[in-house]
Amino acid sequence: MPLGHGDRPARIESGDDYIESLRGRNLKVFLLGERVAEPVDHPMIRPSINAVAETYDLAMREPEVATVVSSLTGKRVNRFLHVAQSAEDLVAQNMMQRKLGQNTGTCFQRCVGMDAFNSLHSVTYEIDEKHATPYHQRLEAFLSTMQERNYVVGGAMTDVKGDRSKAPNEQDDPDLFVHVTKRNEDGIWLKGAKAHQTGCINSHWIIAMPTIRLGPADADYAVVAAFPVDAPGITYIYGRQSCDTRSMEGGSIDVGNANFSGQEAMVVLDEVFVPWSHVFMDGEHEFAAMLVERFTCYHRRSYVCKTGVGDVLIGAAAQAAEYNGVDKASHIKDKLVQMPHLNETMYAAGIASSHQARPTKSGCYLNDDMLANVCKHHVTKMPFEMGRLAQDLAGGLVSTAPSEKELRHPELGALLDKYLKGRADTPTEARIRVLRLIENMTMGRNAVGYLTESLHGAGSPQAQRIQIGRQMALDFKKGLARRLAGIDSADDE
Ligand SMILES: Cc1cc2nc3c(=O)[nH]c(=O)nc-3n(C[C@H](O)[C@H](O)[C@H](O)COP(=O)(O)OP(=O)(O)OC[C@H]3O[C@@H](n4cnc5c(N)ncnc54)[C@H](O)[C@@H]3O)c2cc1C
Ligand code: SF4
Repeated sequence: MPLGHGDRPARIESGDDYIESLRGRNLKVFLLGERVAEPVDHPMIRPSINAVAETYDLAMREPEVATVVSSLTGKRVNRFLHVAQSAEDLVAQNMMQRKLGQNTGTCFQRCVGMDAFNSLHSVTYEIDEKHATPYHQRLEAFLSTMQERNYVVGGAMTDVKGDRSKAPNEQDDPDLFVHVTKRNEDGIWLKGAKAHQTGCINSHWIIAMPTIRLGPADADYAVVAAFPVDAPGITYIYGRQSCDTRSMEGGSIDVGNANFSGQEAMVVLDEVFVPWSHVFMDGEHEFAAMLVERFTCYHRRSYVCKTGVGDVLIGAAAQAAEYNGVDKASHIKDKLVQMPHLNETMYAAGIASSHQARPTKSGCYLNDDMLANVCKHHVTKMPFEMGRLAQDLAGGLVSTAPSEKELRHPELGALLDKYLKGRADTPTEARIRVLRLIENMTMGRNAVGYLTESLHGAGSPQAQRIQIGRQMALDFKKGLARRLAGIDSADDE
């Protein structure tokens, strides 16, 4: 079923419908030096599509987890397309994210769009309030359509950025940040490139947003616009992942997680036209920082997704220890307690941030920024320690095991079955499979999602330290100390 520029199919329900909806779009996608004829059928791309498909199937299997009644249409919609009307809505997002992390063991790619809609809901409202612009109404109309059709919407914030010490207008090349090159009565044209775009090829639409605080000289960079993934003028350059070509070798052991993976690509925009109906900011540079801060506020607590993935890693580590016959050893038990301690520490900060949400002027709820930043800052470190512990429990075979071809080899198979055995009652293949899963999550393709994305996604660690520093209220806390120490009197307070 060919998709015309973002307006078909009329409605997607199941994961299978979703996969079909991606076919025949004639996207300009490049991977390993070649243009990909049909991404849906490419063995390196398909696991990332399966991960998004699970967001649809979960909504069908467990509607109370992954669907919600829309405040715009009054109909039940996928939770990824809902604007939070309460703290409970935000908590429910986190619970869904944890479950999807457990089900896929990877990045399921749909949260960037969800967090973009939520942040834009309040920011467009506040731009309109100041400038009498029509952005909020346009956004709600666009979101209603996305909800009715149940589409995947990617969020494109990160520009390629060139020299990081310079503002967009100061760069030698003006295209290093996405900007408007032309406007007429019909709409605007965009040029530039967005980097590391999660699930972009697996989306139906993309919303481009500015990535940093902007000044008056950067007004053409202050643009928020939605366009279909198959709009003319877009080139996708696929990011390769560690061990990704294993999925082209056949077999199901060496890939570690045969069904699911994440996806990132560079999105190059060459004079992409966007009609005014899909423009939600154009030139209001003073709102760029507000948008970035609200988006990252939502997105940094969305990283509780990694605790669902962490649940899988904890299970894999415990299983590997059992297969090795060491699960009763005290240091193993202790490490298996340490892993959930780390995992739940991340979850606690994220879910607390959602619980402490407050309404914005538009009526959309925004979670607590300090706790969101604490959550994401934990996420930049704790999965790495969990990966270390999992590899410790796995033993060296996690990185030295022979390939599936040797395991299936007529001469070597029996030899490996004998010499790679752990506990007598455990099939050797089961032992190798769980080790490959640990390899996949800590060094292989899903380490992109579990480790590097944890480090840089939604902002590198320093970005969270800046936000924590801004909100730590040191003067207030110094006052508390001075009062108890008898330096200030209660009246000074
Ligand atoms: C797997 C993955 C998925 C992602 N998905 C998305 C997505 O879907 N949508 C999206 O918009 N973005 C996405 N991102 C992008 C993510 O937000 C960025 O990686 C992050 O903001 C860091 O930007 P960068 O990668 O360009 O690193 P850089 O900006 O190059 O940072 C590298 C280092 O330099 C430091 N640094 C950067 N600038 C300065 C400065 N001016 N002064 C001092 N130090 C500086 C940083 O703190 C960091 O330590 C994703 C990233 C990853 C890795
Ligand atoms: S990294 Fe997590 S929050 Fe971000 S899109 Fe992937 S699953 Fe969602």
